[in-house]
Amino acid sequence: MLSFNYKDILSATIEQFMIPAERVAHVQVSNSLEHGLLLLTKSGYTALPVLDPHYKLYGLISLPMIFDSILGLQRIEFEKLDELTVSEVMNENIPRLRMYDSVQLGLDMLIDHPFVCVVNDEGIFEGIITRRAILLKVQELSNQYKD
Ligand code: AMP
Repeated sequence: MLSFNYKDILSATIEQFMIPAERVAHVQVSNSLEHGLLLLTKSGYTALPVLDPHYKLYGLISLPMIFDSILGLQRIEFEKLDELTVSEVMNENIPRLRMYDSVQLGLDMLIDHPFVCVVNDEGIFEGIITRRAILLKVQELSNQYKD
């Protein structure tokens, strides 16, 4: 059983694990669905934050959301990619963290989400926290107890 001091992680704040906004790929809220699909595909991620030009966070857009919105009863309605905007398809009901929140709170949210967005008090996007960032820290601590 691991004996590292898990309080090292739990007493940290979200800020210490955050990938800052300037290093996070995102989609503009007014983009067409086609443009959103292009950005998602090029980024290699399955979901991205949706922002306005002032970095206000509106929600998340994912590949399954886009595909679901263009699925007709008989065929895939590709023309909808040009007709719909990201704002019409995105998920606005997403968890949000603040920089000063505890990693404990972040962990609770990361159970159900691969990443969680971090915003300031005005709802401006500050970055993301990912499962990977937490796991890297756990790995670093557990390596200290290897033979
Ligand atoms: P990871 O834990 O690194 O695999 O990241 C989980 C998810 O977080 C990815 O699938 C992306 O949706 C998102 N993500 C991670 N890093 C970035 C980034 N630099 N820009 C945008 N999204 C990211």
